[in-house]
Amino acid sequence: MPLSEFDLIRRYFSDLSVHREDVILGVGDDCALLQPPAGQQLAVSMDTLVEGRHFSPGADANDLGYKCLAVNLSDLAAMGAEPAWATLGLTLPVADEHWLAAFAGGFAALAAAQKVQLVGGDTTRGPLSITVQVHGFVTPGEALRRDGARPGDLVYVSGTLGDAGLALRAGQGLGVADEHLPWLLKRLHRPTPRLALGQRLVGLASAAIDLSDGLGSDLRHICEASGVGAVLELGDLPLSPAVATHVSETGDWTLPLAAGDDYELCFTVPPHRQAEVEGLASRVSCPLTRVGMIERGSKLHAVLPDGQQIGGMPDGYDHFAHT
Ligand code: ADP
Ligand code: MG
Repeated sequence: MPLSEFDLIRRYFSDLSVHREDVILGVGDDCALLQPPAGQQLAVSMDTLVEGRHFSPGADANDLGYKCLAVNLSDLAAMGAEPAWATLGLTLPVADEHWLAAFAGGFAALAAAQKVQLVGGDTTRGPLSITVQVHGFVTPGEALRRDGARPGDLVYVSGTLGDAGLALRAGQGLGVADEHLPWLLKRLHRPTPRLALGQRLVGLASAAIDLSDGLGSDLRHICEASGVGAVLELGDLPLSPAVATHVSETGDWTLPLAAGDDYELCFTVPPHRQAEVEGLASRVSCPLTRVGMIERGSKLHAVLPDGQQIGGMPDGYDHFAHT
């Protein structure tokens, strides 16, 4: 017998094993009832994944469940927020129980790791599309924003850049050594939201953003919001061996600058606090690399490893640029 909408919600989404005390009422009523901590602000963000646009038809359901939450948590990380709750808008062509169990399992694994409770959502029939909204807490006045970078601040990124883009291109036929593939695919399908890093950057970083579209365009967002320019030292970009090989063989910097889907953090720090940032890397167990500097003006430019300046930056992913 086909699963009804209510059975589906009850079976797969009503209890994903995280039970927070600040959830007065979770899935099952017309609204969830939530109790934010006294004196804290709510940080709220939403991201949608659409089949054929953000992932291919037939994509692994467990990965999708994980990734739809991970990309949202990455936004909370970029604000320095502590995650708490999520809602899930699911549009499904059919109620396939294997798919639903795998999807819910991927979502639940990350939700449990980050103590995020799924408190509600909406389920409808239609072309496969997944929307998640996350809610987190920040102390008033302390959230990491895009508009605080000042000339002289150092620009840092976490992790490595361009791995997800290379995995995607490998899927489209670009030759990549077999030994690199499992790790690259993990970077594409199961990105790690840098929540611990974001929370530790509160009071230290002057601005932050998560890298969803590519360093070139995401750093430009910081520059525009802050009314500053920046220079990137391409030779300093943190690259995995696979991406480093690709860049040195092709001379093409598009992957680390514009491929997107990195879900690392890019942040700026006043120069006198450099030592504090460098001490942080071991505590958040991810590399933090200085890649450039904020400048006066409004130009974002890059310097190649041989010292040559390049003017234009490859653009990041823009959903409406190529329609
Ligand atoms: P209503 O008709 O009042 O909007 P629904 O029938 O859409 O309620 O949903 C019933 C309950 O199930 C609500 O608490 C809603 O938040 C929750 N819900 C629906 N879909 C999902 C989902 N995909 N994930 C989590 N909770 C969901
Ligand atoms: Mg509804």
